[in-house]
Amino acid sequence: MSKISLSKCFVNAEVEEAALRAIRSGQYILASECKAFEAELAAHTGTTQCVLGSSWTMIVYLLHQLQGVGPGDEIIVPSHTAFPTMEPLIHLGARPVFVDIDDTYCLDLDQLEAAITPRTVGIIPVYLYGHPLDVDRVLAIAAKHHLWVIEDCAQAQGAKYKGKTVGSMGHFGAFSFFPSKNLTVLGDGGCITTNNTQMADRLRMLRNHGRQGKYDHEFPGYNVRFDEIKAAIGRVMLKHLDGFNENRRKIAARYTERLKGIVQTPPVREWATPVYHMYVVRCEKRDELQKFLKTKEIDTGIHYPKPNHLQPAVTGLFPYIPKLPRTEQAVKEILSLPIHGEMTLDTADKVCDAIAEFYGKK
Ligand SMILES: *Cc1c(COP(=O)(O)O)cnc(C)c1O
Repeated sequence: MSKISLSKCFVNAEVEEAALRAIRSGQYILASECKAFEAELAAHTGTTQCVLGSSWTMIVYLLHQLQGVGPGDEIIVPSHTAFPTMEPLIHLGARPVFVDIDDTYCLDLDQLEAAITPRTVGIIPVYLYGHPLDVDRVLAIAAKHHLWVIEDCAQAQGAKYKGKTVGSMGHFGAFSFFPSKNLTVLGDGGCITTNNTQMADRLRMLRNHGRQGKYDHEFPGYNVRFDEIKAAIGRVMLKHLDGFNENRRKIAARYTERLKGIVQTPPVREWATPVYHMYVVRCEKRDELQKFLKTKEIDTGIHYPKPNHLQPAVTGLFPYIPKLPRTEQAVKEILSLPIHGEMTLDTADKVCDAIAEFYGKK
């Protein structure tokens, strides 16, 4: 039996040819492939603007700087997310204010308003594992308190809320192309989507040394640019994204059908079209199950084992440690099962068989 991996990066001849095309073009940074990739990403998301950057973390850092995020500001984030969600704001001197999760692992909107103070400037809802939250509710709360919203879509490329693609509803959407994500460029990368042309223009300048023309620098910027080879690869990947997401939903449906009553399967809200960046179950004897699956050559993961509000990087800076009981409970019980765009139902069945065997339900 061959090893079943947690995720897999798509590569085919078309991807390789795209990379070759970029190599042979003689242009390597922010040229025609990047422009086309930005236009295609904006069109796919349903925004007028998309700005590529070297990673989610760096392009969000630049965005926060343009938003004027600074010391004294509070930004609401879940603790149950990838650590980068809160890194840029911390670097700018702002404070992450953590709110607990609901059963979809997104911000618990019943607790959101109570976390808002006169210092709050924005909210970063994370669509963890590829399931959106109730965006209309977040936007209504944000509007009432004059807050901005950055949708963290790093795990949710192509997911929909009431038929609208994520990254098009908040003031900004933030995406990552890290190789494990649903949409990759076979390297690091990220982007911001928005309908705010003025901010997009300034972000394009800030990522490229504050330039307008080649030697006209309006303000000091950075080098957070994007490469032609990765853009050419990303354009091919984007064409396959919806198909791969559809396959992920098929795999997820099979998991849910077969694992019901054995482990706790992930809930789906009626307004959500999730993209299952991860298929995460909750279970008893999680660590033993993970070890057992390893003996069957089935890879699993824990996303994430240690909540961010308990990370030394956070507790060292912000001595007040909030109580987030659902987050702290979840990290002991969650297990991410293998899933990717090309996975077959047959492989999913093997994973289900092994889990059933572990719990003696075969
Ligand atoms: C991967 C990820 C990020 C960071 O993306 P990078 O491109 O690696 O900087 C941010 N938020 C979430 C939820 C992620 O999964």
